[in-house]
Amino acid sequence: MNSEIFSLSERLVSSSYVRQGLQARRAHEQLIRLLLQQGKCPEEEWSESTVELFLNELAVMDSNNFLGNCGVGEREGRVASGLVARRHYRLIHGIGRSGDIAAVQPKAAGSSLLNKITNSVVLDVLRFTGVRSVSSCFVVPMATGMSLTLCFLTLRHRRPGARFILWPRIDQKSCFKSMLTAGFEPVVIENVLEGDELRTNLEEVERKIEELGAENFLCVHSTTSCFAPRVPDRLEELAVLCAKHDIPHIVNNAYGMQSSKCMHLIQQGARVGRIDAFVQSLDKNFMVPVGGAIIAGFDENFIKEISKMYPGRASASPSLDVLITLLTLGANGYKKLLAERKELYGHLAQELSALAERHGERLLHTPHNPISLAMSLNRLQTHSTAAVTQLGSMLFTRQVSGARVVPLGVEQTVSGHTFRGFMSHACYFLGHIFNFKRQTISYIPELQCCIYCCRRARAAPDSHMQHAERRDHIGAGFVPGFFRERGEKGF
Ligand SMILES: *Cc1c(COP(=O)(O)O)cnc(C)c1O
Repeated sequence: MNSEIFSLSERLVSSSYVRQGLQARRAHEQLIRLLLQQGKCPEEEWSESTVELFLNELAVMDSNNFLGNCGVGEREGRVASGLVARRHYRLIHGIGRSGDIAAVQPKAAGSSLLNKITNSVVLDVLRFTGVRSVSSCFVVPMATGMSLTLCFLTLRHRRPGARFILWPRIDQKSCFKSMLTAGFEPVVIENVLEGDELRTNLEEVERKIEELGAENFLCVHSTTSCFAPRVPDRLEELAVLCAKHDIPHIVNNAYGMQSSKCMHLIQQGARVGRIDAFVQSLDKNFMVPVGGAIIAGFDENFIKEISKMYPGRASASPSLDVLITLLTLGANGYKKLLAERKELYGHLAQELSALAERHGERLLHTPHNPISLAMSLNRLQTHSTAAVTQLGSMLFTRQVSGARVVPLGVEQTVSGHTFRGFMSHACYFLGHIFNFKRQTISYIPELQCCIYCCRRARAAPDSHMQHAERRDHIGAGFVPGFFRERGEKGF
């Protein structure tokens, strides 16, 4: 509403009331003005009504919502269902143009603005979560694996002769397939055991580069966030190697944004060596539906090149979801969630360690992994392998999801490649080295858990009770219950 409308309103309602209304509206508009001016995630959370006001203002700028619009083309933002229109706040045109996902769409000023402002806000978040010198990023409506593929396909133009991608092993299928889908041959570098930790084998990386020739490598594809006992790759050393041999470096930072340590590794890697792009999942780091990722980097031109590789227009949904999320959390709200996750991780480590001890097991010492923990299951294994597998299914039926029980020596074939000891990130069995058998159970105290706690704590009057209960449930209190139950049955 503009000032003319307000003065007309004064004919109907007392002007002092209208002025108050005008001021109230200005307070919303002030927040929107700051957002557009600074392009940063607002410190404080926005109310849902400010967010909706903003989104409605964007939508009326798109041609499908023009009152006199007569669209005669094949793509005019037509939507048959009102439900669908509302689900997308009437932003129907998507983002980008046929040649570039970052380009402005003439028919859709509102959606284009949404795209630009989201990328700008997300860049701010990447900076304040630890990658201070990141220069450019964009949200892409594909999950992490496909986004990695897009990075590899872009590099192909720069290195047309390259066949291989050098990949320190991580037992996760989509990042492995991202290389195959792009048409490259992964050169798998097995990890080395240092104490309890599985770490990047730098000597082997260098040996492979020398053996196959640096020019034949499209890039090094490293990983930060992963399940223990694997720990984030030695990013600094890899980045230095990449700079030395002039090989591009793509980092899979799938759920690393929630950990300042992972973000710090990327920042340091780029400072001392070479990182061309790093990719993170939207759903894992921002609690939005699956289907989006952020591709970011330190050279604006390269990131632009990747965004130009995307053929056609793209869905605006992931951008819209992450923007709404960040506006309604605010930078402070997001930072608070990160702090809670960290605290919960410490709590979980303590409890899991005590639990392991009670059962003659131990929490593996993996200090370089800031997200995931692993404990041994030797005694369960001596009873039978079935008991180990059964633990996994029992956790599942008790609604604990995301924990992984890794039985001994599982073989898994992914697109023709066989991984021995799948899920343990190592082809040899760790126990053979130490002469004791070990299975691992990994657990991620996810950000999701934290927000679940917060919600419960805010929502209910007996919140403290519920908060405590939930903590125990996702921490260790639940698991001892499981062991007791098994004990009664003779374990
Ligand atoms: C989640 C994840 C991926 C990507 O999975 P998408 O389903 O493509 O998002 C890749 N690598 C790791 C380590 C992951 O955790």
